[in-house]
Amino acid sequence: MLIVVVGLVAPRHAQADIFRPSVQDQIKIGKQVHDQIVKEAKVLPDSDPRTQLIRQLGEAMVAKIPESERKSRPFEYRFYVLQSRELNAFAVPGGGIYIYSGLIARMRTVDQLAGVVGHEIIHVRNQHWASAYADSIKRRLGLTIVLTLLGAGDWVFDVADAVDTFFVGLPYSRRHEAEADRLGFDLMAGINMNPQGLVDTFALFAENEDTSAGDFLRTHPLSRDRVKAMQDRIAKSNRSFPPQRPLPLNMRVPNLRWVR
Ligand SMILES: [Zn+2]
Repeated sequence: MLIVVVGLVAPRHAQADIFRPSVQDQIKIGKQVHDQIVKEAKVLPDSDPRTQLIRQLGEAMVAKIPESERKSRPFEYRFYVLQSRELNAFAVPGGGIYIYSGLIARMRTVDQLAGVVGHEIIHVRNQHWASAYADSIKRRLGLTIVLTLLGAGDWVFDVADAVDTFFVGLPYSRRHEAEADRLGFDLMAGINMNPQGLVDTFALFAENEDTSAGDFLRTHPLSRDRVKAMQDRIAKSNRSFPPQRPLPLNMRVPNLRWVR
């Protein structure tokens, strides 16, 4: 009975947000996760042409985010390439975006890369990890307890626990993936990139589904619907996009030995 009463009294919005780490917490978590990544993975130097290219693309897209939003949610977007043969990319809360060199090595166009960068920016911008984290906490506690806590207003956020949870890996929902694709499309189009690049990257993941793309597919499940939604969006945009631009050869050659 108590559950029903509290459920009715607590505003729906509060139920959705109370467990979500704040913007400042997300930035703090992201910095701690970044420190771990630097310890455990090889981050390519700032002078690497691949790092320079993803920064150029990412910063151009971030510059399209309205100033008012940047002020209210001051995420610190930073772009890195990790040396790894895996086909993968991910974003950490607060702004860190990481693309694996193995993925870039398989790409053929700058637009493919822009598609992945734009998609990852939206995961940060729309706080998808924080929402997934809040959902996981609710699942862990169980709805009954959650509703009781909401009534008591007793919730302490633990950054260390959140950082651990990041490494366990929370699957993004289909809704979040669809949103990252949809709004990532707008970011790409906003800097005059061809969104077909993202569709081509999906094809790359699909071809490699049984090999090294496992991790990306776990965090970014691909579905036929998702690819089709992107193709429909391109068709319905009534825009003509410039042809895709080839990736500079020097970004692919060092990794050619990995390509079957
Ligand atoms: Zn994603």
